[in-house]
Amino acid sequence: KELPGDPRSDVTSREVLHACYSKVSPSVPVDDPQLVAWSDSVAELLELDPKEFERPDFPLLLSGAKPLPGAMPYAQCYGGHQFGMWAGQLGDGRAITLGEVLNSKGERWELQLKGAGKTPYSRFADGLAVLRSSIREFLCSEAMHFLGIPTTRALCLLTTGQDVTRDMFYDGNPKEEPGAVVCRVSQSFLRFGSYQIHASRGEEDLEIVRKLADYAIKHHFPHIESMNRSDDSLSFITGKEDDSVVDLTSNKYAAWVVEIAERTATLVARWQGVGFTHGVLNTDNMSILGQTIDYGPFGFLDAFDPSFTPNTTDLPGRRYCFANQPDIGLWNIAQFAKSLAVAELINQKEANYAMERYGEKFMDEYQAIMSKKLGLSKYNKEIISKLLNNMAVDKVDYTNFFRLLSNVKADPNTPEAELLKPLKAALLDIGKERKEAWIKWVQAYIQEVSGSETSDKERKARMDSVNPKYILRNYLCQSAIDAAEQGDFSEVNNLIRLMKNPYEDQPGMEKYARLPPAWAYRPGVCMLSCSS
Ligand code: AMP
Ligand code: MG
Ligand code: MG
Repeated sequence: KELPGDPRSDVTSREVLHACYSKVSPSVPVDDPQLVAWSDSVAELLELDPKEFERPDFPLLLSGAKPLPGAMPYAQCYGGHQFGMWAGQLGDGRAITLGEVLNSKGERWELQLKGAGKTPYSRFADGLAVLRSSIREFLCSEAMHFLGIPTTRALCLLTTGQDVTRDMFYDGNPKEEPGAVVCRVSQSFLRFGSYQIHASRGEEDLEIVRKLADYAIKHHFPHIESMNRSDDSLSFITGKEDDSVVDLTSNKYAAWVVEIAERTATLVARWQGVGFTHGVLNTDNMSILGQTIDYGPFGFLDAFDPSFTPNTTDLPGRRYCFANQPDIGLWNIAQFAKSLAVAELINQKEANYAMERYGEKFMDEYQAIMSKKLGLSKYNKEIISKLLNNMAVDKVDYTNFFRLLSNVKADPNTPEAELLKPLKAALLDIGKERKEAWIKWVQAYIQEVSGSETSDKERKARMDSVNPKYILRNYLCQSAIDAAEQGDFSEVNNLIRLMKNPYEDQPGMEKYARLPPAWAYRPGVCMLSCSS
């Protein structure tokens, strides 16, 4: 529908019907924008010459203040379930896509500015982002990638030189904070909610669900498109004979939802492996590519606590706590599958099969990851659950414990007094009465690993390659934020370098592997609100 004036400048908050996106230009207020940090690894993906970062107009272009020649910026329309409740239209309220870069390998990378000003989806908010949350998104996107976890990436982080008003301090007094923009990069920012919104709008919009599914399959799941649907040899058949048979070769949308379910399961299993807690697993924050998307009040576990949630808005229900993530992934897949079923792209049986595959895939991946973390050649439920139980009781640091565990020697004759020595730094606070439980566990563990052919050295190397030494703990982010807010960006840059090799001991960087200091337990550091 024709809008009065230039449609790119109409950012009136509104319901955008029968469309997947709105053209909108960035309108972030800037006053001498500065480049804070950038990722050389993302620049490589885009085949962007590092010299480009030195261009005097780079901060203007990448903050959105100066239009990129040839770009047709837009914001996406999507909906979502927030905390289990259907929230209707959400959409890119402050993210604006500039366009896609096609690299020489034929890969398409979408560049999106987060914090670039209002869009038709901004609702009551300002379309902006503050430095603290932008630092967190920039650092964690890259940290997750280097941990080996699928994620949207971040090319660069800029300050706008303009303040933004936020009210994160719960005292009713809004505060001025420095504004910032992150340039996010992914092959696609489509979410479950991108489909849900159209399925929710009745008959007329169901065609959009199909078109958007076709689009995603064509561009991002081409192997599904090219599956020869009449070729019987390609039958991925499940179940027995009867009704439960689902033939994924006969319906590309069924194959698609199953793949998304499996990718999501793999993603969540990997989160559990490194103790990552997303904090806001609403369906609008679930990528159809199975990537981590939208870094808000996330947190890595320090002391192991299954009920840990980093998000103050998630209290007291703790829907998005660490231990709930696998179930929430399934709940979200169910909502996504429901939308495809409403659009008659898949039937109930196929939807159920996607959920079933989610469960199976999650268990397979999780068991494999936990076995690797412990250096076990096969999954041992008892040893793993006993360990997690002990860790929860004694609030043992999730990262450091596993890193130290690789130093335990598989010698069943180790004297009792020596058993806990390699783990000492992670078990400092355990009382006498708990020591016995730990000794028993280490004995059982040694029993298990000593049965295998693997040498101590090999096992250590394997374990250290999956148990990170450095993790982006909230307090590390906070130190970088505190300095950056004073104009010193060196810590942001130290962290981005450090997090490139999280599995390697880095000389001189020992302090970054330390447990959180006492100040890290103040609100706003270990727990965050959605205010960003
Ligand atoms: P989130 O909980 O971060 O996934 O955000 C939920 C919705 O709020 C999304 O549609 C965001 O685009 C939107 N949103 C969050 N912060 C802002 C903001 N400062 N201005 C406009 N929209 C926002
Ligand atoms: Mg979001
Ligand atoms: Mg967000």
